[in-house]
Amino acid sequence: TIEFKNVNKWYGDFHALKDINLKVHKGERIVICGPSGSGKSTLIRCINHLEEIQEGRIYIDQQELAGSEKQIDNVCREVGMVFQQFNLFPHMTILENLCLAPVWANKLPQIEAEKIALKHLHRVGIGDQADKYPGQLSGGQQQRVAIARALCMSPKILLFDEPTSALDPEMIKEVLDVMVELAESGITMICVTHEMGFAQSVADRVIFMDVGEIIEEKAPYEFFNNPEMDRTQKFLEQIL
Ligand code: ATP
Ligand code: MG
Repeated sequence: TIEFKNVNKWYGDFHALKDINLKVHKGERIVICGPSGSGKSTLIRCINHLEEIQEGRIYIDQQELAGSEKQIDNVCREVGMVFQQFNLFPHMTILENLCLAPVWANKLPQIEAEKIALKHLHRVGIGDQADKYPGQLSGGQQQRVAIARALCMSPKILLFDEPTSALDPEMIKEVLDVMVELAESGITMICVTHEMGFAQSVADRVIFMDVGEIIEEKAPYEFFNNPEMDRTQKFLEQIL
């Protein structure tokens, strides 16, 4: 369970998140959409403490995301994230990329980490690419590596920030297929995406943000067929 209580965030003078209240239950699949600059990335980056908040509280499984660095690390350990740019280390093999955090942060023996990494590489359909370097893989393959890397930390919550936006069209499906499979596995997922087909078939709830606020949240059928707010309607007209 993730809970935002009256969360406010500023970048300097700029009010980026305005009084966000949100509860995401275990196993729920949430899609967040909204115009550029509306605060989607900021909101999910707060969940693994890539951004600090100035007001309000965030809880992950009833533990507040606050306090000492160690406490925060412990809470964030449950959260994995996949970015638009895959953020793989170019000078390391795929297997080395995947083992890095488990070995250094979780103190797993190298052999154990490699076993887990290979399992997850197989799961995302690229078990045969372990010894290559990121530059030798297609964008779709690199993004699947990034998903496998997140899975190697056994997260309870997975965050996706526009995971298909940097991909060529023909590679989007292979990444979405992996995300659908993960969604069916029961893990809690929050995805910022404009892939509305994915939202319609996978999301339990769609959240629409604009200018730092949650404007509307609904089950997908209601969201797409019956949006209440003008701003949501205008946004949907533009992207559908
Ligand atoms: P996009 O769809 O373009 O990714 P977004 O909804 O993810 O947009 P955010 O990246 O969360 O939007 O940004 C929200 C607002 O906060 C924007 O106006 C952005 O310019 C501003 N912002 C984001 N990061 C910073 C930063 N590090 N410093 C200052 N302002 C920032
Ligand atoms: Mg963003």
